[in-house]
Formats: sequence, structure tokens, C-alpha cells
Amino acid sequence: MELRIHLTFLFLLLFVMLSESATTGPTGAARGMALVAIIFGSVVLHEFGHAIVAVRSGVQVRGIMLLPIGGVTLMDPQEHMESVRNPTRETWISIAGPLVNVFLAGMAAVLLFTLRPGIDLWSKPWVTPSALAKSFFWTNVFMFAFNLLPAFPMDGGRVLRAWLARKMEFQQATRRAVTVGHIFAATMMLVGAVYSPWLMIIGFFIFLAAQMEERTVLFQSVVETVHMEDIMLTDFSTLSPADTLEDALHKAVHTLQDDFPVIRGSDLVGVINRQTIVDRLRREGNGYVQAAMNKAFEIASRSESLASAFRKLTTRGLTLIPVVDQERLVGIVTLQNLMHSMGLLAETRRLQRQSEET
Ligand SMILES: [Zn+2]
Repeated sequence: MELRIHLTFLFLLLFVMLSESATTGPTGAARGMALVAIIFGSVVLHEFGHAIVAVRSGVQVRGIMLLPIGGVTLMDPQEHMESVRNPTRETWISIAGPLVNVFLAGMAAVLLFTLRPGIDLWSKPWVTPSALAKSFFWTNVFMFAFNLLPAFPMDGGRVLRAWLARKMEFQQATRRAVTVGHIFAATMMLVGAVYSPWLMIIGFFIFLAAQMEERTVLFQSVVETVHMEDIMLTDFSTLSPADTLEDALHKAVHTLQDDFPVIRGSDLVGVINRQTIVDRLRREGNGYVQAAMNKAFEIASRSESLASAFRKLTTRGLTLIPVVDQERLVGIVTLQNLMHSMGLLAETRRLQRQSEET
């Protein structure tokens, strides 16, 4: 598992160091850094909570990313999508993070009350470099409370969706949860407009994140229900391995295609794109397509879902996937035309939904 630290954390560290040392000297700077470490550590442990439960329920975790606004647990997208659709599993993975914070806050409170019986935990300021143990307690209390807000991208939003998804279709549950998130975000922005610009910024961010979650789910549902034959190009140009690169470039000029399947007789032997042809010509002069083409390509069948084909394309860094039916090339899907078809499909579905509603 990898841990990615967003650079902004370093700036935050620097900022706290500078502002503290200006007022209280080197001890202040050390305490400021310790406070950053506390916040940082709480975020990491929160994400570890998600990651551990995710791994235990069979979702591959690629790493944890830390952003200025919090952490993100990076999971295998396909496995994560499947797990999200399982309400029980999704609830446990989502709740695990905030539970870690409750546990840490509870531990801190118990320790503080036993070690320093007279301590006043409730007096302000709650998070400050001059009271580190208290700051640890409050950081975790805040993280717990903030993450349980029923709005994406907070964990509470996921729990809410999982709960709704027990009663309705997943996509509808997402839409409802997104609406609740929007109401929260709008309220935060309104309150923030009066009291604090920070609250406004956070509200705005939550608003966008909710939108993104809805789009992701919509995108997923599209790519899973669309098959290669729905979107493949059936009218396309091919190249032969015996073509010279100059011939190939000449052909490429006369078509809108950027990617070409390479055919010998009736066999598909490789794929090549315009950029590779141009690069080769520039670097090594004229040669044959045979030597420049990519032989390690993937193929798809007519009925294969776009989701599956998309995975093949992205994991291999390819831009073209030939569609084969009984060992015969029947079409191609390129990244270039994929984006275009996806746009058209989304539009078609939106129109369908509109006509269903009216
Ligand atoms: Zn979380």
C-alpha cells in the first residue's frame, strides 16, 4: 500500500512554522509542527480505518492520498463500484473512518482525565499549539462530526446513500443523497456568507463534490450497459504491415481516424496511431508499419461492455481497441471516438429521461 502526501501539507507545515516562530520563537515553531502532525496523523488514521475495512471486505486498496481538505482512500475502481452497490459493505467501509476518530477522541479524553484530573477540555481555543493533547481530542471530535454530515463527499453521504439503496434503485438513491448534500452545501454557503468565508468555501466544495458523485454513478451505469456494437465505428481505414510509414501517413491525412488496425490478409496483427507514425518518421526516417506497430494490443467482442473495454484500454495505455466477431475484425473503438459516442449516448439518455418524465 502506498501513502501519497499532497504537497499542500508541506506548505501548511511551512506556514504554521513561520507564523508561530514569528511570535513565540523556536519552541512555538516546534509546537506548531506538532499540531500539524496531530491533524495529519488523525486524517491518516481515519483513512486507515476505511482502508482496513475495505481490504477485509475484499476491495483492493491502492493507497491513501492526503489533500488539504482531508484524505482520500484510493481503491480499485471496479471493485469499489461493486462494493458501493452492496449497502452493508458500503456502510461499514464508510463508517470505519469516523469510528477511528471517535475511538481516538475517547482514548484522549480518558487519558487526559486520568493524567490531569483538573483539566478543562471545554474552554476555547479547542485546537491550538499551546495545548496539544486537548487539540488532539478536539481534532478527532471535529473530524468525526464533520465526516458524518449526510453530504457527499463526506462519509455520512455514503452511509445515507447505502441506507436509501436498500429501498430503491442505486442510481435513484444516489440522486436523493446528492440532493440532501446540495441542501446542506447551500445552507453552509448561506450561513458562511454571514459568519465565515471558510464555511462558504467548504460549502461550495461540498456542492461540487456531490455533483461529481452523481456524474460518476451515471457514467458507470452508462459504461456498464453500453456494448461495443452500440458505439463501434464500422466504417474505418486499415493499414498493412507492408505499408511504408510514408504511405501510412499519406492515408492518415485523408481520414479523420487517429488510430489504425494493421491487417495482414484477414488477420489482425497490430495497431498503430498517427502520432507513432509521425514520431518514427521524424526519428528514424521512413520504414515499415510492421516495425513500428504495437503488437501487444487487446481485442473486444461485440457484446462486451464498454466498462470492460475501457479498462483494457486504460490499463495498457492504448487508444484503440479492435472489435472482433468470430476472428473477423468488425469494428473499432478508439478513445477519440469513444468520448464522442459517450457524449451522444448521455444526450440520448437525457432526452429519454425527459420524455419519460413528461
Ligand atoms: Zn472518511
